Amino acid sequence: MARGRPNSAAPDIRALPADLADPRLTGAACVGHAALFDAEHDDEPRQDRNARHRDAADICQGCPVLVACHTVAAELGTHAAGVWAGRAQRARRGRPPRPPPGAP
Ligand code: SF4
Repeated sequence: MARGRPNSAAPDIRALPADLADPRLTGAACVGHAALFDAEHDDEPRQDRNARHRDAADICQGCPVLVACHTVAAELGTHAAGVWAGRAQRARRGRPPRPPPGAP
């Protein structure tokens, strides 16, 4: 295969993840900590999952887009799994998320 200048017609794959993310969540404190926010891990005991979600929620409390995250989670409804806006979504399936402290 020839090597040289990249094909200018090809999409810039580095830009794709940014396009997939909601721009309202730019600057999210959870970036780089995704595993903490997952709904469940295989064979994870409930106590461990709850502790992991508490750690995730602690990160949310210092997140600059906490209120926007709550809005996005509400829009996603039952499609929001794991921890969003400081709360585990799994336990409240079918109900709108409670607003975070300080939300208008
Ligand atoms: S509030 Fe929590 S889940 Fe939402 S973007 Fe911030 S750190 Fe991530």
